[in-house]
Formats: sequence, C-alpha cells, structure tokens
Amino acid sequence: MDLSQLPDNPYLLLTPGPLSTTKTVKAAMLKDWCTWDDSYNTIVQEVRRRLISLTGKYSERYTSVLMQGSGTFSVEAMIGSALPKNGKLLCIANGAYGNRIIQTANVLGIDTVIQDSTELDEVDLSLVGRNLQDNPDITHVIVVHCETTTGMLNPIKEIAQISKEAGKIVMVDAMSSFGGIDMDLGELQIDFLVSSANKCIQGVPGFGFIIATKEAIASCKGNARSLSLDVYDQWETMEKANGKWRFTSPTHVVRAFYQALMELEEEGGPVAREKRYTNNQRQLVAGMKELGFETVLDERNHSPIITGFLSPTSEEYDFKSFYESMKVKGYVIYPGKVTNLDSFRIGNIGDVHAADIQGLLKAVEESMSWMQLAES
Ligand SMILES: *Cc1c(COP(=O)(O)O)cnc(C)c1O
Repeated sequence: MDLSQLPDNPYLLLTPGPLSTTKTVKAAMLKDWCTWDDSYNTIVQEVRRRLISLTGKYSERYTSVLMQGSGTFSVEAMIGSALPKNGKLLCIANGAYGNRIIQTANVLGIDTVIQDSTELDEVDLSLVGRNLQDNPDITHVIVVHCETTTGMLNPIKEIAQISKEAGKIVMVDAMSSFGGIDMDLGELQIDFLVSSANKCIQGVPGFGFIIATKEAIASCKGNARSLSLDVYDQWETMEKANGKWRFTSPTHVVRAFYQALMELEEEGGPVAREKRYTNNQRQLVAGMKELGFETVLDERNHSPIITGFLSPTSEEYDFKSFYESMKVKGYVIYPGKVTNLDSFRIGNIGDVHAADIQGLLKAVEESMSWMQLAES
C-alpha cells in the first residue's frame, strides 16, 4: 500500500506509551484476522518466538505468553499466577508503578513485605538482604526496572543477585524498558519479566506479555486467582493449540506488534534502540538545561526512556498552558507524577529521532517566551 496516503499524526507523542509508532506499524492493522485461523496463529507463534529471542544468551530457558489488556493486566496476571496460595512477596517500590504492584498484591490477598524508598531515592540494597533475612517465608521478589514515575532505573542485577542467593523467585516489571534497554535475562537471573505492546517495542496498545523460564511458568499451574488472568492456562493453550488465545485476542494489535518486532530487528535490536533512545535523552537533557530547566533526578539515575523536569517557579507558568502551547506546535508532553513536587515529564521512546528532539527543544523555547518565562 502507498503509505503516503496515510495521514500524518498531528503531533508527536513524547510520553511513555502509547507512543509514536511508524506508519508501517499502523498500516499493518488494515486487515481483519480470524482468531483461530492458522495464518493468524502462525503470527502469534512468531511473535512469541521473537520475544524469546530478545532475552539473550540463555534464551532456550525461556518461554513467553501474551495476555489481553493494558500492561497492568499482565502485571496482575503474573503476580496472581506466580505466587502460590501460601506465597509471600517482597515488593521493592520507589514510585507509582511499584505502588500499583503493592495495590495489586493487596487486592489479590497476597501477603506482602513492602520496601519503599520513596519516589526520589535509590533502592537500599542492604535493606533488600535484611528484609529477606527477617522474613524467611518470602517466596518472590518484585521490582520495577525503569520506574516511569521519575525515569529512575533500578538496579535489577544487584536485586536479583541478592534474591537468588536467598533462593527467591525474581519478577521484574520491565514495562517501560524491555526492547529499549538491552538485557540478558539469564545473566540477570530473572524468572519472570512483564512488558507490553505499546512501549519500547513500539507497537500499539492492547496486550501485554510475560516472559518466564519454563520452570517458572510450570510452577504457576493452579495458582491463579482469576480465570481470565491465568498465565499458566493462557500459556498452555498457546503451546498446545499452536498460538491460540483462550478468549478473543486483539488481532490487529498483534499483527501491528509483529511488524514492530521486525522493525526492531531492522534497527539492530535492543542494543541499537537503546543507543538511539540514549542519544535522544542526552540531547533532551542538555537542551533543556540550556533553556534553564533542572531535572528531577540526579543524572546518574536517569534512564534513556523518560525524564522528569522541575516546573519553572515563575508565576506565569502553568502546566496546562505549557502543554497546550507544545501540542499546537506538534509535541505532546506528559504531566509529572512525583508527589509534592511540581514537575513534568518528557519521554523520548517511540519513533522519535534526533531531529524530533531538536524540534521539541525549539518548541519549548518558543512556548517559554510566549508564556513570558524567558527573554525572547
Ligand atoms: C506503563 C507501565 C505499566 C502499565 O501501565 P498500563 O497503563 O496498564 O499499560 C506498568 N509499569 C510500568 C513501569 C509502566 O511504565
């Protein structure tokens, strides 16, 4: 099809997902599929295979399962299926997504030890060891990789190492990092990882996925606290029926995701994508600093995904006007999520390149002078 016929998006999404996708990903949705037909199920199996191939050197140890819904549905499915009835969770949290995990565990009635270092602070690794020692009945440890609240990158390698030495199952919410930050799951000793279609793999929203070791998936049998969010049952059906989902699957979204996975490979895989995102983020921070902005976090805690900036203190500033001014110029930014801190966020994942960041910085400068926040 002639892609020039497809309308351009009126603005670029500089958000942590849904994000700006390529026209080829969007165009992949222009066909209807039958959920139980072979030609569709073959695509599902290829998607599952490609996801496993992104796990690194020990990919033969891993398997994958797709789950309907937004990323949170998959997080809930993973937690609710991984923990046995008498299981106990250690949740390491420092932001909204860590808190959502705690909330999920509470709703599911799972006994949870909380280690909360608050939004702006790094995880205290010695406390992880101490919590595991004080609570020998903990069976599973969970942490968010890139805490999208602030953009903080948590030390999953060290956390997994401490947890594995204590014999625990390790679960990672890599929603906003998988595909955009290169990681070797086997080397990192990750048992379960969860992510979704509309983040760094650059698909459109509609489903999430869980990548786990084959033993970890097998251990989920009979644990689920929900019928539709049963990871084991979903996985078993996909395995036995060659890519079939138990209930209606988001066919167009899956087809678009397959295209997104091929484009990830064409780009050079997660290593190349991480490099592009890192360049975007560095260019963004350098440019914003030149315009007088300060970042919420210290630079050593930044991820190549999203960055929080402190709002200008001037009385002339309000986020809504800034947001609207940026949007008409073609850039959608993101509100802040840190409690007690006036801030906003700019994501740089998706089909976003150096020229886009340049354009964005120019729009920020123009918006500031329009809001009389700077000399024009
Ligand atoms: C986006 C995201 C999620 C899932 O959010 P949904 O809105 O349910 O897709 C979970 N964890 C993290 C770290 C995220 O960035």
